[in-house]
Amino acid sequence: MISREVDLAPECESCAALCCVVFAFDKSGSFGIDKAACEVCPNLDEHDRCRIFDKRSELGFGGCVAYDCHGAGQRVTREVFKGKHWRNEPALKERMGEALSIMRRIHELLLLLASARRFPLSIEERQRLDDLEDLLNPEAEWTEKTLQNYPIAEVTGQVNAFLRSLRRHAGPSSTVRT
Ligand code: SF4
Repeated sequence: MISREVDLAPECESCAALCCVVFAFDKSGSFGIDKAACEVCPNLDEHDRCRIFDKRSELGFGGCVAYDCHGAGQRVTREVFKGKHWRNEPALKERMGEALSIMRRIHELLLLLASARRFPLSIEERQRLDDLEDLLNPEAEWTEKTLQNYPIAEVTGQVNAFLRSLRRHAGPSSTVRT
């Protein structure tokens, strides 16, 4: 069981529109403009809504449609930054971006482990899965510091090794970059 309830689905209303601000885009088939990291996308309105939301693909922003933070955006906004907003403190953009990049990887790993839970696991495998979830979801709330110090590459390696060990259940397993 995940030790603390975690929402792995995005809830944009509870997020400070982080994905529309903190990431850099290159004008390409996925994004209609060049945008530097921490520059506010010109399509974002003052209420943190996308002005072209229903037409993003049509207008060349298919990358926005494809992106999924797996619930990391709202968690960084609410849990790590306690509801603060970069509009009131512009210096937060960079800090929130750094936190989001780690939190998203953590949520991606939790999502993979949640999928693995559907397999008919042995008692040992279930225990290992629980242990990995605990590593990714400690009891204490995340802070900027705990995210900065989190050994994400090492934990990603452990999750990948565990998923590879389950290949007999699903054929080729999905793993993520370390
Ligand atoms: S186009 Fe819309 S969804 Fe994409 S980054 Fe800009 S404001 Fe956000």
